[in-house]
Amino acid sequence: MDVRPAGIHHVTAIAADPQANADFYLNALGMRMVKRTVNFDAPDTYHFYYGDRAGNPGTIMTFFPWPGAPKGRLGAGQATTTSFSIPEGSIGWWQEHLSGLGVETSRPAERIEEDVLTLRDPDGLVIELVASADPHGTEPWDGGYVPVEHAIRGIRAVTLSEHDYERTASMLAGRLGFELTAEQGNRYRFHTHGDAAGVGTVVDVLADRALPSGLVAAGTVHHVAYRAPDRQAQADWRQRLVDEGVGVTEIRDRCYFTSIYFREPGGVLLEIATDGPGFDYDEPLLDLGRALKLPPWLEPNRAQIERALPAVQTGV
Ligand code: ZN
Repeated sequence: MDVRPAGIHHVTAIAADPQANADFYLNALGMRMVKRTVNFDAPDTYHFYYGDRAGNPGTIMTFFPWPGAPKGRLGAGQATTTSFSIPEGSIGWWQEHLSGLGVETSRPAERIEEDVLTLRDPDGLVIELVASADPHGTEPWDGGYVPVEHAIRGIRAVTLSEHDYERTASMLAGRLGFELTAEQGNRYRFHTHGDAAGVGTVVDVLADRALPSGLVAAGTVHHVAYRAPDRQAQADWRQRLVDEGVGVTEIRDRCYFTSIYFREPGGVLLEIATDGPGFDYDEPLLDLGRALKLPPWLEPNRAQIERALPAVQTGV
């Protein structure tokens, strides 16, 4: 029974203004909106999914945009950085593109043999663009605001900031089968097992005992989801966590995948999401993200839900 994750499925964060969020991820980062829906647990709030052309697992960044949301605080027990892969040689193009839109970026820095450009989204979420070899299994979006030769390839990594590195490392390396592959200062790099060139295979743990604890609200990551190939693997994984005494939720139906949630010892909320059914489950691939989609159990309340949501223009 192999219950080790095969890379990141998606990262979910909290935003404030939905229009500013859509403008940034569509226009500045050139991603595709692959689903426009609501938070299934709080349907008066949008849930936006951005990704590659087909919304392949490992390319998905999602947001709960919550107008008027209080600002969060980056800190320990959080995924404090989300890193996207861009092609090797594209850093210069991205600097110019982002500067033209008034988005500030750091000077490119080299880290563990990769060039990294750091920026923040409108809510202060920390994003990195990492020049790296194209990962397997993604389809860069060619219908957006970034030419396909420079387009984001998928999620490269998340960085977890932790007070107690040892506890988090023991869960990653022990229960979840990650492998420690590099160290630089207080940064410990782990890879998921299997295809190292796959998407979302890196997790960095930053050890920092002095860092204040994070507060999850606007501008912070809510959870990081890892991939299970199918429901059987997810069920096996859940049983393994239960057997080991980790508090884990029941399997929840998210329409486009099913999910379980648990926390790593430092407090970061993790999810295991299935690769299928995928984002073309309820609308054709060509039309992804254009219409507000609701799960069957919320469809009877559509009129009321639509009235409560602010209008958002996505220009696609
Ligand atoms: Zn999720």
